[in-house]
Amino acid sequence: MMAESRDRHSDLQSQWARVRARLREEFGLAAYRSWFRTMTLVDMRDGRVRIAVQTRFLRDWAAQHYADRLRGLWMAENPEVTAIEIVLGASGSPALEAEAPAAAPPAREVADAPDDKDVGATLDPRLTFENFIVGKPNELANAAARRVAESSVEAGRVVPYNPLFLYGGVGLGKTHLMHAIAWYIRTHDPSRRVIYLSAEKFMNQFIRALRFKDTMAFKELFRSVDVLMIDDLQFISGKETTQEEFFHTFNALVDQNRQIVVSADKSPSDLENIEDRLKSRLGWGLVADIHPTTYELRLGILQAKAEQMKTQVPAKVLEFLAHKITSNVRVLEGALNRIHAQTQLVGRPIALEGVQELLQDLLRSNDRRVTIDEIQKRVAEHYNIRLADMHSARRARAVARPRQVAMFLCKQLTPRSLPEIGRKFGGRDHTTVIHAVRRIEELRTNDRTLAEDIELLRRMLET
Ligand code: ADP
Ligand code: MG
Repeated sequence: MMAESRDRHSDLQSQWARVRARLREEFGLAAYRSWFRTMTLVDMRDGRVRIAVQTRFLRDWAAQHYADRLRGLWMAENPEVTAIEIVLGASGSPALEAEAPAAAPPAREVADAPDDKDVGATLDPRLTFENFIVGKPNELANAAARRVAESSVEAGRVVPYNPLFLYGGVGLGKTHLMHAIAWYIRTHDPSRRVIYLSAEKFMNQFIRALRFKDTMAFKELFRSVDVLMIDDLQFISGKETTQEEFFHTFNALVDQNRQIVVSADKSPSDLENIEDRLKSRLGWGLVADIHPTTYELRLGILQAKAEQMKTQVPAKVLEFLAHKITSNVRVLEGALNRIHAQTQLVGRPIALEGVQELLQDLLRSNDRRVTIDEIQKRVAEHYNIRLADMHSARRARAVARPRQVAMFLCKQLTPRSLPEIGRKFGGRDHTTVIHAVRRIEELRTNDRTLAEDIELLRRMLET
């Protein structure tokens, strides 16, 4: 028993070594040093690999940005692995300590950028404008971010809008655009002082300054930058003292004609528990929202990322993913990482059937879970017929057509098979369902009203 667990453990260690080697290749030495070198393997239980890091900040960052990739690489090494958990601090079990890489103090590791004096966050090297795919939903935000970046390094700098306020749902690229601005300025004019940090970190720094009676230094620091970027401002909702400090910082910077970029999950006026005067200031510049992704944008992002990873993914598979995973880009990336790992593992491109199996959990959580019952109910309401007519044998056009529409939507929006659908419609045969689906497909190409009805119903059901 003991020997077996020891073996298992050394297997895990060598897998971990290979995973780290891959990380080093993929992210380059600098990023590897900042993010991965001090990580230690804790253990694996029930397919869950636990990895320890030494600071909360590292943990959150790694969990947010690298957990998917870590999992992908682990899965390629060991198919039993299903999840990665990044935990705080434990220096691991005694047995592991000997093998843990010599760790430099993490604080120094994180602050590898000379100009952010430990206050900002490290920039992720992958989050550049070059790697940002532009489509309808994000074109305004992207153009505004570029404009800000470019003007910040021009000779007779003008601040085009102050602040630039980016908002949108989770995983739609706000942080990406902010890092991209910072990278651009850093590469084009390293003398400019750019600070990027989350609102949470801003607050923590402020609290620390208060505690150590060091608020002068804090104020000086934040008021001496050329560009200040605060991510996820909603975090300071209800935190009045921090808001007040931010308000003053904001005004001081605007007065000196310095650029401010802020992101949040809502527009300034919709932010809750943020002081009115701050909300109104936030709306002074350009407010650019990032809309939910469209199919085209998702496909574009997938194609670009697959190419970057140098992974062969059949076009059909990419289309399938773009179609199925609509929640946010991070999930999309996670799916692709998993496919990448799997492709490497088996040594050939993955087929569509394989993808469905591989991504079962992701696809399920992305399912809008529309049920046949719901569809029948909505369609009946829409056409003003009785719900019972969905199951009845009546063939009058007034009920038969809506019934066909409902069958069509069931086929489109649920994973149910044709016989299953038939059964739910008063025990009809699957050929009846096929007929209905074809009929509606035919009709809607010429019948504008029908096409609009279907589109409307689909939208109602999907949200
Ligand atoms: P947010 O800050 O809005 O929650 P992020 O900027 O962290 O979202 O984006 C989540 C992930 O999706 C990141 O890895 C980011 O690189 C990627 N991503 C989002 N939008 C795009 C895009 N348009 N092109 C390429 N990658 C994108
Ligand atoms: Mg973000």
